[in-house]
Amino acid sequence: MRPYIPESIRESVAKRAKYRCEYCKVYERHSFLSFHIEHIISLKHGGESSEDNLAFACPICNLKKGSDIATFIDDDTEIIRFFHPRRDEWYKHFEIHTSGLISAKTKIGLGTIKIFDLNHPDSIIERKTMIAKGFF
Ligand SMILES: [Zn+2]
Repeated sequence: MRPYIPESIRESVAKRAKYRCEYCKVYERHSFLSFHIEHIISLKHGGESSEDNLAFACPICNLKKGSDIATFIDDDTEIIRFFHPRRDEWYKHFEIHTSGLISAKTKIGLGTIKIFDLNHPDSIIERKTMIAKGFF
């Protein structure tokens, strides 16, 4: 069962994100899908339904992330946490290209791209269109 999050908090989180996925940077208005309010640190890992632990996310990012908080890159010797929209600055971990592709600047960026599927073909098309229209 999904936790209840009051509509006023949902709207506040969406507005804070400027109605844009905090992970892949696609705007909700440029998507065919309704965006989600997601727990950055999932409830099962001790996260709360407070605004500082909630993020605005497109369905692709949210569903790929699930309740995960970290991953491995290359081998299983180092755990890499995901990008945290409240604590991290997006452009320190990622770079966006005119093709719509997102590349990583850090291991956190690399792990987040891998698990969230930030370069999903639909997301690339949406970002490429946004870039062409001057939204980046
Ligand atoms: Zn997204």
